[in-house]
Amino acid sequence: MTVLSLKAPLSGFLMPIEQVPDPVFAEKMLGDGIALDPLTSVLCAPCDGRVIQLHEANHALTIASPEGVEILMHIGLDTVMLRGQGFLPHVAVGDEVHTGDVLIEFDPDYVATHAPSLLTMIVISNGEKVADFDKGRGEVKSGETVIMTLNLNGRRASSPAAAWTAEELAQMPVITSPMIIVPNETGLHARPAAVLAGLARKFDADIRLLRGDQSANAKSVVAIMTLNVGYDDEVSLRAIGRDAQEAINTLFPAIENGLGEAGMTPIVAPASVARDQLSAPPPRKRSDDPNILLGATASPGLAVGNVYQFRRREIEVEARGSGNPLAERARLDSAIALSALELQALQARLHSEADPARAAIFAAHEELLYDPDLLDMAQAAINNRLSAAYAWQTAVNTQAGRLEELDNELLAMRANDLRDVGRRVLGHLAGEQADLPEVPPNTILIAEDLAPSDVANLDRSHVVGFATTLGGATSHVAILARSLDLPAVAGIEAGALVLPKGTPVILDGTRGRMRLNPRPEEIAYIVGMLRKREQKRKADLETAADPAITVDEQRMEVVANISSQGDAEQAMILGAEGVGLLRTEFLFMERRTPPSEDEQAEAYAAIAGVLGRKKPLIIRTLDVGGDKPLPYLPIAAENNPFLGERGIRVGLDRPELLRTQVRAILRSSKAGGNIHIMFPMIATLDEWRRAKALVDEEVKNLKVKPVPVGIMVEVPSAAIMAEQFAREADFFSIGTNDLTQYTLAMDRSHPKLAPVVDGLNPAVLRLIAATTAGAFEHGRWVGVCGGIASDPQAVPILMGLGVKELSVSVPAIPTIKALIRSLSYEEAVEKAKEALSLESAAEVRALYPLEDYEL
Ligand code: PEP
Ligand code: MG
Repeated sequence: MTVLSLKAPLSGFLMPIEQVPDPVFAEKMLGDGIALDPLTSVLCAPCDGRVIQLHEANHALTIASPEGVEILMHIGLDTVMLRGQGFLPHVAVGDEVHTGDVLIEFDPDYVATHAPSLLTMIVISNGEKVADFDKGRGEVKSGETVIMTLNLNGRRASSPAAAWTAEELAQMPVITSPMIIVPNETGLHARPAAVLAGLARKFDADIRLLRGDQSANAKSVVAIMTLNVGYDDEVSLRAIGRDAQEAINTLFPAIENGLGEAGMTPIVAPASVARDQLSAPPPRKRSDDPNILLGATASPGLAVGNVYQFRRREIEVEARGSGNPLAERARLDSAIALSALELQALQARLHSEADPARAAIFAAHEELLYDPDLLDMAQAAINNRLSAAYAWQTAVNTQAGRLEELDNELLAMRANDLRDVGRRVLGHLAGEQADLPEVPPNTILIAEDLAPSDVANLDRSHVVGFATTLGGATSHVAILARSLDLPAVAGIEAGALVLPKGTPVILDGTRGRMRLNPRPEEIAYIVGMLRKREQKRKADLETAADPAITVDEQRMEVVANISSQGDAEQAMILGAEGVGLLRTEFLFMERRTPPSEDEQAEAYAAIAGVLGRKKPLIIRTLDVGGDKPLPYLPIAAENNPFLGERGIRVGLDRPELLRTQVRAILRSSKAGGNIHIMFPMIATLDEWRRAKALVDEEVKNLKVKPVPVGIMVEVPSAAIMAEQFAREADFFSIGTNDLTQYTLAMDRSHPKLAPVVDGLNPAVLRLIAATTAGAFEHGRWVGVCGGIASDPQAVPILMGLGVKELSVSVPAIPTIKALIRSLSYEEAVEKAKEALSLESAAEVRALYPLEDYEL
């Protein structure tokens, strides 16, 4: 029996390949072998042989031994992403090498700080040559210790194709695939090559991957890698054999879809389409009119104002650390914790101000703070005695850079979020705070890019719009601008950046353009129009205290969604007839322990005091869990947090938490306010009964008068079972944000799905109709407290469906009341009926079209 001994290519510690934290290696998709945690940084030849493959990123190479065994060595995990940086090859393909010869030198600091791991894998890519592996363990010395002994028994089962005679071959079908443009950002490196070879090996056919006039055996990882297929390269497949068609049918879409690499956008080149048309980004628009700069709509609306150029100052950090990695990590952790608190505060504020979608953006930012890859990368740099600030900055820049390089607009947009989060933490580490300048009134802000936190913190009384040369309609910045009703243009021509401060401009967010040197009549027209709108807003404000009664005498209750006492005060000023939803989460966030019963009772009583004795105050019990964890409320990681421990389920699982809150609410009701209790996320009658029983117990214990108790209808099951719930619950308030999410099975905070997650979808409207029908059978009233209650196009439809109370965002109260005064109830009922029979949210919206304010 022939034996091949492989010497350690690096000094370090051996580790079973199965323990490598990457399935491509652990599951031996590239072949069986061993892993080595290196202490040296010069990769040497483990045996005599010839270099048959060297990846262009210089992180991996294969040697063929004289016996034909192919030994693939892969330095680090995901190091292909470094695109060669940090690696210096000393050999080229075709070179003969001897045991111990230097193959690749690498910079351990750079690689350790820029890749998830330095683990080096040594695998046999043509395992059929090996009958038995004898693997070493423990510490090894480069060029000395034997790490694997391979017993070679000649060929094992070879490919059936190899056994076919020429005659047989001539009879077999030959199938060639269309061209595929490789979508993998780093080409067909080890990982996708292993996936492709693994798939190809399932077929008897002889399968070749073709690139130009080169071809490789698609069943051999090394052969595929030797083709050196890069991103955007054109390849095709040719298969010969009885199952050739089946093989092509399987492999073609697999390559198209990136062979398991996330975020890949497949591009298939039909013969008739020129390749550059497919791969080039759409040409950027340039205006022929020197007074018009073109961009894309980020947030609709018109604004007239003066340019203010905003440039972000980079925070400078010292690379060298204190020499104490533990202390540096502690600094990083505390900066992250401070940033998390800030983000939670921002979320709480946004929740109270308008729709929760904005808050969700910053919830996602909070997630980024704890991204394990980011933290591992920063930790690796800290271990190398770099400062926490430098380590964090480098990790953020590297990850953001990777996202930006992806040919995926959505992911590239997330790079801006990552940099925003990064800056927030860095600000704490460097002792520098956010740097948005104070700007004069009527400012149109021009910047290369803005961060979501910049937009959330803009002084709305002075900034009337903004334009950025980067960004797009799907960025969080755009989403925020839309929810702030702030006209914005993204991706504007770079000429915008050199406009002198104070230049008068008109920003047309709707059309994604900016006009310089506007004609006086143009300015006059727009200013007049904006003034009319402002006058309308003022008039609405003046009549805000009047009831909302339609032209045909139907009264609607317009109440407010609030999150604090301050909100309650503002809501009363703006004419709210009560509070339809007090989100109590504000009391529970930004702290390390839950609020006590006394503390809560005091807070609820204070808000009730603002409303007085008559106006209803509907207090929703704590709605956290899932995606909104509290530090003192550990909830195990869940695969589907939106379908896991959320809302009332958290309260029922931790009855003391719910009991304390219920007691606090009941105690606050003693003072004589019109207090209601409402449970979030009720899905079953059992949940409702258990929660209600707890209230009944505490009513008895505290000897207080019972208060109305209702449920939020935000899960389709509650809407469908409305009649059964209505037998027991005093009222319903429909949470259309969640109801829409669960009806359409679309994440309400998903940036790509945002335009489709529309509460006016007829499917959601049918559930609303089911809720009102069920409620009326038992004389219960129904309100809506989700975002569409503040949506002018939704208001008449909700009214027509039998909703009696609209709980709206505080700023929207006067407008919604004024709108109701202009509506006919009778017509609304007709249109709502029609809406139920329509096919899409767009069709429903067309029933009450918005006035068009185009320039
Ligand atoms: C809703 O889901 O519509 C709702 C009002 O609750 P929240 O937005 O707080 O989840
Ligand atoms: Mg909800």
